[in-house]
Amino acid sequence: MNIPQSSFPRIIIIGGGFGGIALAKKLSKKEVQVVLLDKHNYHTFQPLLYQVSTGGLEPDSIAYPIRKVLQGYPNFYFRLAEVLHIDTDKRKLRTNIGEIGYDYLVVATGSQTNYFGNKNIEEKGMAMKTVPQSLNLRSLILENFEQALLTDDLHERDALMNFVIVGGGPTGVELAGALAEIKKGILPKDYPDLDTRRAQINLVQGSDRILPAMSEIASRKAEHFLESLGVNVWKNIRVTDYDGIHISTNTDTSFESATLVWAAGVKAANIEGLNANELLCRGNRLKVNQYNQVEGFKEIFAIGDVAKMETEAFPHGHPMMAQPAMQQGENLGENLIRAVENKPLKPFIYKDKGSMATVGRNKAVVDLPKFKFQGVFAWFVWMFVHLYFLIGFRNRVVVFINWVYNYIRFDREARLIIRPFKKVRAK
Ligand SMILES: Cc1cc2nc3c(=O)[nH]c(=O)nc-3n(C[C@H](O)[C@H](O)[C@H](O)COP(=O)(O)OP(=O)(O)OC[C@H]3O[C@@H](n4cnc5c(N)ncnc54)[C@H](O)[C@@H]3O)c2cc1C
Repeated sequence: MNIPQSSFPRIIIIGGGFGGIALAKKLSKKEVQVVLLDKHNYHTFQPLLYQVSTGGLEPDSIAYPIRKVLQGYPNFYFRLAEVLHIDTDKRKLRTNIGEIGYDYLVVATGSQTNYFGNKNIEEKGMAMKTVPQSLNLRSLILENFEQALLTDDLHERDALMNFVIVGGGPTGVELAGALAEIKKGILPKDYPDLDTRRAQINLVQGSDRILPAMSEIASRKAEHFLESLGVNVWKNIRVTDYDGIHISTNTDTSFESATLVWAAGVKAANIEGLNANELLCRGNRLKVNQYNQVEGFKEIFAIGDVAKMETEAFPHGHPMMAQPAMQQGENLGENLIRAVENKPLKPFIYKDKGSMATVGRNKAVVDLPKFKFQGVFAWFVWMFVHLYFLIGFRNRVVVFINWVYNYIRFDREARLIIRPFKKVRAK
């Protein structure tokens, strides 16, 4: 990998996501050698992926070069590499570009889509966890409308214009709201020769309320907002199979749709060698102690989505969200320096800053630890928070300008099929 040996201890961070970047920033200017490995050369701001999928933002405005984050940090090395295996005995990693040894290792690999073993849905459904996946979804949505124009078969046309989003968490809710706005504001103008009123947006949730991790009032309000936009919200229904058109569920309800978006679950992104059963808990997350040390290892740590730290306040681990990842990264930054200096480590204490979701223009729900509010003010708070946490000044400016433009013009101009997507269709 061409990384020089150094007299400083080597800390390898796998993953330049929210946790990995927060940790790297904390280690800048310290007497350690830091090697950051990621399979992408950019950091992804996942909360805005749905806006890329729906043409509201260009992908470059929510991705940021990892090398730029690390510019000017002495003793920092970035390598574009996928880590394939961790040899915990030899303290070595095997990657697609070679091997490298570590003194301290931090696993910050985040999570991946969980299809719960359903191969058909994995193969024929759409996920929205990465920039390429969001671009695929954007292309598919637009290609479906182009295709709908060409067919005389009403049945086929309806299936092309029906969207089924599985999972009523923030991702599903935000995507459903954005699609409903496209249906209302853009489709009739872009496709005047197509009866786009027949387009259906269905949000399917397995439990009895959407946004189950938020307050009841947030769930109720979000559902009301979605329905006011014309989204069909289906609750207590589990999607069980998909052949590319027909969607079966565990009830009598079924759907026909050329686009199923799977936003119904994630599992930790583990790496071979550190995935023995005794190290994992629900969702494949690595069991860590209050210092983020992986159980049984003094020199291996895990942070963010991939880590599960059970505490009194969070007996099932912290939520798989950006804030816990960033806060754990910051705390671990201090702890790694303490470890190097043989000082006692500081336990991680999560400061819950609340959660939020937007349904569309002027419509959002916000749960703060002390206040809960919904509507226009919540929407402004949602926008401000997302702009604040976006990495990169240029990205903030571009996103802000796009939002103002889209707000004033009721538009989403990034509806471009740059990279056509070939979907596996039903036979
Ligand atoms: C669509 C969507 C919307 C979301 N909305 C919100 C929201 O509104 N608010 C919120 O708080 N959270 C939201 N989240 C969740 C939030 O993005 C995650 O909780 C957060 O990204 C976790 O941070 P992390 O550092 O653990 O992992 P990530 O940010 O996912 O970073 C993991 C990094 O590891 C890299 N990686 C993985 N495996 C390997 C490997 N083997 N080798 C090399 N590199 C590897 C990946 O390329 C990635 O860069 C959303 C997530 C999604 C998918």
